[in-house]
Amino acid sequence: MKEYKYPMGVTSQFSFCGLPFRLDTYSGCAFNCTYCFARLRGGYNHTKKLRPANPDRIIKKFKNALTNEKQTSIISQYIRRKMPLHFGGMSDPFQPIEKEMGISWKILKFLSRIKYPTIISTKSTLISSPKYLDVIKSNPNCIIQFSLSTTIDENSQISEPYSTSPSDLLKTIEVMSLNNIIATIRWQPFIPYLSESPSIFVKRVASCGIRHIGFEHLKLPVENQNPLWRRLSKSLEFDIYDYYKKNNALVDGRELVLPSDYKLININRVKEALSNYDITLGVADNDLQYLSDSKCCCSGADLFHGFENWNKFQIGYAIKASEGKSIRFSLIKDMWKPTGSLDQHINSDSRIIKNANSYNRVEDYIIERWQNLRSPFNPTRFYNIKYQNELDENGMKIYEWQKSKS
Ligand code: SF4
Repeated sequence: MKEYKYPMGVTSQFSFCGLPFRLDTYSGCAFNCTYCFARLRGGYNHTKKLRPANPDRIIKKFKNALTNEKQTSIISQYIRRKMPLHFGGMSDPFQPIEKEMGISWKILKFLSRIKYPTIISTKSTLISSPKYLDVIKSNPNCIIQFSLSTTIDENSQISEPYSTSPSDLLKTIEVMSLNNIIATIRWQPFIPYLSESPSIFVKRVASCGIRHIGFEHLKLPVENQNPLWRRLSKSLEFDIYDYYKKNNALVDGRELVLPSDYKLININRVKEALSNYDITLGVADNDLQYLSDSKCCCSGADLFHGFENWNKFQIGYAIKASEGKSIRFSLIKDMWKPTGSLDQHINSDSRIIKNANSYNRVEDYIIERWQNLRSPFNPTRFYNIKYQNELDENGMKIYEWQKSKS
């Protein structure tokens, strides 16, 4: 089996994400969820060519970074900084192949030994088996995010036919909570007319002891060529593309996205349902991210001890921290940021102008996205934020809230 050569990286969402440091122990994911966004990014083949990473190489990278200041790559700087690690950003670390290969287990064991702040995303029950539970319990800085689109088994057969059933996943979450492991939910994606109402969903997941919910609406690929997407749209009892168009969905890159006003209604329904529980909300729809209860985008990681070094040098944080006042670059300017070239982590279509003799740092990308009103990552892409032709003393654009948000 060929080795997966790029298990660690900086996510493409780094300019509005608190957790841009990603680790994937496998390339490809056998769970094959019909809506999986990872299939659309990074050229992943989810069905046939699963590739395992080399765990010894990953561990060596961590050790070298921690012991040798001369290791100056962005990843090494993240590791020294103890930037929280998102384990499972592009594939599930506990998908079936893990039972045979145990690569994620080896990595978990190492991360536990150094108590590295780790946020695991999974849909697997494997994590509640004694071998995995023990190693997770030994890391005090660990959060497990379980993602699902519905708690109804029958509906999940349409959206996640090859993954764990919601009822089994909810039992796994209960085991986590009973073992005092922080468990959160990613209700991602919410699929109109397939996902249940927020009041029913929240009631079911709250009974498992979860602490936080991340919530995001389904994005549809503009080109519906992938067999799994076609399977989803055919299995629904209505034409979802037609539904999105009738609701004025917008084209965002290669995806169709519901408009902010539509999404706001559902977000408020989730907020209302959560008001009966001690559970926080993270809004993962990028344009409305600032409606989250926590500052670290949708993950809620900043609410827990050990995750203090999340990424604050990003546009999403500048907006969240500016509620009720002008949005100025100076707010994030002095936040910690890695130096060195980011170019190799960025899709060639999204790279900023290159000069053969120079490279672009995280800072260069953030400044470009801040200043370029046409960039899909500019502050004006957030709901109700406008630019009114004002610059600060350093020539950086100042953004304003258009009107009070709902
Ligand atoms: S489990 Fe996650 S990475 Fe795997 S197919 Fe489903 S959505 Fe994609």
